[in-house]
Amino acid sequence: MPKGTVVIDRERCKGCGLCLALCPEDVLAYSADYNQSGYNVVYMERPERCIGCAFCAQTCPDIAIEVYREKKSQQRE
Ligand code: SF4
Ligand code: SF4
Repeated sequence: MPKGTVVIDRERCKGCGLCLALCPEDVLAYSADYNQSGYNVVYMERPERCIGCAFCAQTCPDIAIEVYREKKSQQRE
């Protein structure tokens, strides 16, 4: 399984929740935090589960998410 990580620009996030709904691995969740515009921002609650599929970034209307994928060379098991 590929491994990914996302970086969420908290000041761009409007807390719409689309990324949470689309993530197949249930990685993202609302944080307890609000940005300067007063929106409840999302964060990686379960980062170890991210597969780098980028569904979240593709669906975000505010382009608040960047996705990074790791190469498979460090795979264990
Ligand atoms: S890249 Fe895929 S698995 Fe990772 S947080 Fe986004 S939707 Fe979820
Ligand atoms: S889809 Fe974008 S704006 Fe909406 S909650 Fe996710 S990161 Fe925030």
